[in-house]
Amino acid sequence: MLSVHSSPVGQLGTKDTGGMSVYVQELARELGKRGHRVDVFTRAHDQVDDRIVTLGKGARVIHLGAGEAAGMHKLAIYSHLDDFASNLEAFRRRSGIGYDLIHSHYWLSGWAGRWLQRWWGVPHVTMFHTLGAAKNGTGVGEREPELRIRIEENLVRNCHRTIAATKRERDELINLYDAPAESISVIPCGVNLDLFQPVDKRKARRQLGLDGNGVVLFVGRMEPSKGIDRLLMAMTRLEQKLDVRLVIVGGDGPGEPEADRLRRLSRELGIEDSVTFVGTISQKELPLYYSAADACAIPSYYESFGLVALEALACGTPLVATRVGCIESVVREGESGCVVADNSPRRLADAIGALLSKADAGAETATSIRATVTAFSWANIAAAMIEEYESVIADYRAKAG
Ligand code: UDP
Repeated sequence: MLSVHSSPVGQLGTKDTGGMSVYVQELARELGKRGHRVDVFTRAHDQVDDRIVTLGKGARVIHLGAGEAAGMHKLAIYSHLDDFASNLEAFRRRSGIGYDLIHSHYWLSGWAGRWLQRWWGVPHVTMFHTLGAAKNGTGVGEREPELRIRIEENLVRNCHRTIAATKRERDELINLYDAPAESISVIPCGVNLDLFQPVDKRKARRQLGLDGNGVVLFVGRMEPSKGIDRLLMAMTRLEQKLDVRLVIVGGDGPGEPEADRLRRLSRELGIEDSVTFVGTISQKELPLYYSAADACAIPSYYESFGLVALEALACGTPLVATRVGCIESVVREGESGCVVADNSPRRLADAIGALLSKADAGAETATSIRATVTAFSWANIAAAMIEEYESVIADYRAKAG
């Protein structure tokens, strides 16, 4: 697997490290458990990166040098992809390994994978995780460069299979990139059901020091496309009627201008006493937060899938979410949450208010909400992926004669 710009063992919730890192790590580990051997190659991000990190049986992450180790913008990595591919090939030769298939994640990895695919004569499966053209379509956040869009277009035509995480992503690939429909397979993302389990709400709140208010939770990287500002604005409406606290978990480190902007906004809106910025935490701590919340809010303008949705539901917490990523296919309206037409503060506030008014539904409800996502175990996702790999390899070998 290739995950050039974002390390699968990097700190989650920071700028470039989120759902894709979780995906790569969980999938690699699950494939390893099933007897496959998976090497995930990523760029060494700082001097202390261990060169090789074991993820589990048969699965490891290998850090390769390519460009300056620290502080390089994602886009600058493009100019070092040839180095990355050459270093990977040198590693492969030294280790005497032959790979049967390449699975690349994100357009930068896809582009590096193109070289390797040709050198090795093996099939290349790609997965974009986010699409530049779809992101630009929202008009929010940094504009994605034309280069990225051209490369995504090229990859979707030339790779042997593209994995889309949702039907929506499949449609975007077809409509925005003119992708050949037959080259796309839809396989959803998964959730670690052993880790994400409901904890008694009162106990979770006690442990986190949260009081008796209604609790609304946001979890994710701090990016304009996540729509956190809309959620803050919704809070001003909610606050007028309810005793409510918004807890924001995720990237809040130095050099994250979005975090500063959001703190400033909460002060300007006069709601700073009702908002807690927790900062980045490890996934191990997240079940407590999900379980303590009456609702998990996903006010995003865009998500390619949205792992946070599955994690909240696996902990028995209902969602209030916009129509992005997996949302419409996982939320059962009125049962496990509410899908809002857009992230206008009024819509968000109305939906959250309605959920809070029937909060404290108890352990039984948490169990039934969790039951709606148990099919998304990583074991199931890896089984589907293995079938896909086998079919791609068979097609490739048949064509090669
Ligand atoms: N996450 C985390 N700690 C944080 C914030 C986020 O572990 O402080 C994890 C979260 O559990 C989820 C991932 O980061 O698995 C975010 O994935 P999602 O698909 O929701 O968003 P993306 O990062 O892909 O935009």
